Amino acid sequence: METKKANQEFQSDFLSVSEARQAIADLIASSYESMAIHLRKETLPLHQCLGRILAVDVLSPIDVPAHDNSAMDGYAFDGRELRDDRQNIELTVIGTLHAGETESLNVKPGQCIKIMTGALMPATCNTVVPQEFTKTHSNGLVSFSNGVVRAGENRRLRGEDLQSGKAAISQGRILRPADIGLMASLGIRELDVYQRIKVAILSSGNELCDIHESLAPGKIYDSNRYSLRVCIERLGMEVMDCGIVRDNPDDLRKAFITAAQMADVIISSGGVSVGEADFTKQMMEELGEVGFWKIAMRPGRPMAFGSLKPDSNRPTSTVFFGLPGNPVAVMVTFYQFVRNALLQLNGAKQVEIPLIPVRSAQGIRKKSGRTEFQRGIVFQDPEGQWVVKTTGSQGAGILRSMSEANCFIVLHHDQGNVEPGDWVDVEIFDGLL
Ligand code: AMP
Ligand code: MG
Repeated sequence: METKKANQEFQSDFLSVSEARQAIADLIASSYESMAIHLRKETLPLHQCLGRILAVDVLSPIDVPAHDNSAMDGYAFDGRELRDDRQNIELTVIGTLHAGETESLNVKPGQCIKIMTGALMPATCNTVVPQEFTKTHSNGLVSFSNGVVRAGENRRLRGEDLQSGKAAISQGRILRPADIGLMASLGIRELDVYQRIKVAILSSGNELCDIHESLAPGKIYDSNRYSLRVCIERLGMEVMDCGIVRDNPDDLRKAFITAAQMADVIISSGGVSVGEADFTKQMMEELGEVGFWKIAMRPGRPMAFGSLKPDSNRPTSTVFFGLPGNPVAVMVTFYQFVRNALLQLNGAKQVEIPLIPVRSAQGIRKKSGRTEFQRGIVFQDPEGQWVVKTTGSQGAGILRSMSEANCFIVLHHDQGNVEPGDWVDVEIFDGLL
């Protein structure tokens, strides 16, 4: 009885993944006001805007397309020629229109004009019969059977894609290649985007050694600072590398104060697990408000989160994420908690990554009552079905399992064991990492 009770109490101080996400979202929303001071805009040439976050709504200055035009290579004519009593349509070709030409010929009844894709539709024409349905004759006539095209077909209308004055893309958009192309199609040369937020990173641990030093006995290379750096850079943000910090209160305090003065967000790894967390906790109480969480998840159980304000003269506070030390746990907690928060702090909207159901090629053991983020490979089975398998050994320190994977298999809080052929949710790395 006693053990069971103690166990329940132990369980109850765990946050679920969704509770942790909510707590982060709440702080981001409330600190957005003070962060907004840093959210300055800058104007960049269009080709430098990929991955940046749009700071304004962009309204289209023109109709797209700007004129009615042909959607096909063929012959343009007045759709009223397609009378029910005609089996075969015969029209006299009076000329040719190429894309980009502005000359407008007057097409009369019984006539048509040879037209190329993108060429302006003559005023009296509303229909294009594609070339492949037609026969040309030596006497300058073209013929086709009635029924291969209906009146109004194969014509693009002015403003059909986008009308002048309508929103082409909205503020908060993370700009992708199609957005850049869309802007160019409107003749827009530069865009107002948010300046990149500054994110300080540091690694804590006496055992850590930088890759530029030789590895002394008992030490390990610091990989977290490198994976974190590129994860953040991939989000288009500025990284400030604050190096390796030794596990003692003075060094940590100094490092955090410096980082908080420079950056909008601090991300540290290591030093938040039981035992080590004690003096980090004590120090964080001096510098701001930070919660030390145990999250019901695997990997990535311990995590610290809050805001630091070591300098009372500074109007804004610095958001702080203390991630666990294990290299895979760092990447999982980064993608499950930090990524969306950073994008939102930088002004982005719609940052959610979709969960996609795929059949599992294997059974997976899973305990109910925690969320697991297993490293997976989505692949095509011999029947051509896309299915998922795990990358094998799932230890939180095994970075190779992450490197081999192309997705997270998300096993939800209440979910139990997975049988072969069951549906599981995956988050594909492409677009995420
Ligand atoms: P900690 O959370 O500090 O107890 O670290 C958990 C595990 O992750 C330990 O085995 C650490 O050696 C390892 N670790 C901590 N920080 C790093 C780092 N920056 N790079 C690689 N491994 C690390
Ligand atoms: Mg440590």
